[in-house]
Amino acid sequence: AFTRLGLHEKFLRAGFMKKFGGEIVGACSETGTKFYFKDGYRSQTDHAYQVTRGDFDKVLLDHAAECGAEIREETSVDQVDFLEENVELRIKSNGSSHSIRARYIIDASGRTSVLGRQFRIKKTYDHLQKLSIFAHYDGVWRAEGIDGTLTVLIRAIDRWFWLIPLTAERTSVGVVLDSEIFRRSKLNAGEFLDQALAEQPFIAKRMTNARRVSQVYVEADFSYRSARLHGDRWLLAGDAAGFIDPIFSSGVFLAVYSGELAADALNEVLDHPHKVKRLFPQYERAVNRAMDVYLRFVNAWYTKEFIEVFLAPRSVLGLAPAVNAVLGGNVGNSFPIRWRMWVFYFLVWLQRHHPISPRLTLVPKKDEAPLSAQTAGIIS
Ligand SMILES: Cc1cc2nc3c(=O)[nH]c(=O)nc-3n(C[C@H](O)[C@H](O)[C@H](O)COP(=O)(O)OP(=O)(O)OC[C@H]3O[C@@H](n4cnc5c(N)ncnc54)[C@H](O)[C@@H]3O)c2cc1C
Repeated sequence: AFTRLGLHEKFLRAGFMKKFGGEIVGACSETGTKFYFKDGYRSQTDHAYQVTRGDFDKVLLDHAAECGAEIREETSVDQVDFLEENVELRIKSNGSSHSIRARYIIDASGRTSVLGRQFRIKKTYDHLQKLSIFAHYDGVWRAEGIDGTLTVLIRAIDRWFWLIPLTAERTSVGVVLDSEIFRRSKLNAGEFLDQALAEQPFIAKRMTNARRVSQVYVEADFSYRSARLHGDRWLLAGDAAGFIDPIFSSGVFLAVYSGELAADALNEVLDHPHKVKRLFPQYERAVNRAMDVYLRFVNAWYTKEFIEVFLAPRSVLGLAPAVNAVLGGNVGNSFPIRWRMWVFYFLVWLQRHHPISPRLTLVPKKDEAPLSAQTAGIIS
């Protein structure tokens, strides 16, 4: 989509760091398994981007304006009414209300999900009601070269952590866990994050010289999906369609993927309205299929067996490149990727009953005594 939109040059001009892959680490280990997008099955690119969302969204917004889109900032859509021939949006800006009409609407309002709420079609995944606590730091240790661009995920027994390089100096560091664990700790978010990071030797070592440069954020990380993604005059895209725990940084990918498909479908329907009956359901199927791919991955991620199999990659049957491709944003529409993913999930299932990879505790080893938050440099 970015190539089609002619955005790569603007991303480079904005100084976004290229991201060449990721690394997954068990909390009981000192090293993890790295994967590089270039090694993905029939990979067409060797990189994605690490971005700060505000800067990234600004590049996209300015680009849309340059391409002729009419943009209204600081304007909220409060209600959508469906009329015979068009759609009426009730909007509010600077305290005054107006309405505007359009032939169709793509709801890309994120987790607010204006239409999802209006139609009451948001269905939550009860087992994925998580909480994220995170902050930005300067001075987190990074590997040299392209390994310094990797997103690092650390899987502990009841939580997982991310280390995401944002710029040459800045790193986003966060933890995701069941909200109940945080509530029971009776700590505030800052105390909880400091303690959780200090308890992980792999992270604490990297943060010896780190300094927190943002507030500590707490975000609900509640996965859901809308039961329908289209109607006669509407489509849902991005988080408005569904939000899957973004462990594998699938959120922006799915938003861009669905945005591109929605734009293509609507472009065709504007010229040939009778095609709506075929193209909108087709859109819904494609987006649901992509979300299913990541939902399955996320469900597996929260099992210990997934990590055990993932951290002992096998160079057989091209499994590793297929898993890598899905992590890199290939939604597995092709049969060669699909069957390899089936085999991968079969191995994860097998691991539960007849271990084929070493068992992991996902608990830091005893001799790696946890550092205090102060020694680890986490408290600024
Ligand atoms: C803690 C956390 C960490 C994450 N980490 C990652 C990550 O590392 N990588 C990744 O890819 N994804 C990540 N995600 C997911 C990612 O942020 C989302 O999937 C992505 O932003 C979805 O894009 P979107 O455009 O659909 O929605 P958004 O980015 O939420 O944009 C929605 C827009 O709609 C506007 N809006 C909302 N309501 C209205 C209204 N009523 N009227 C008018 N405008 C409205 C909002 O102001 C906003 O501009 C993370 C999410 C969370 C919660």
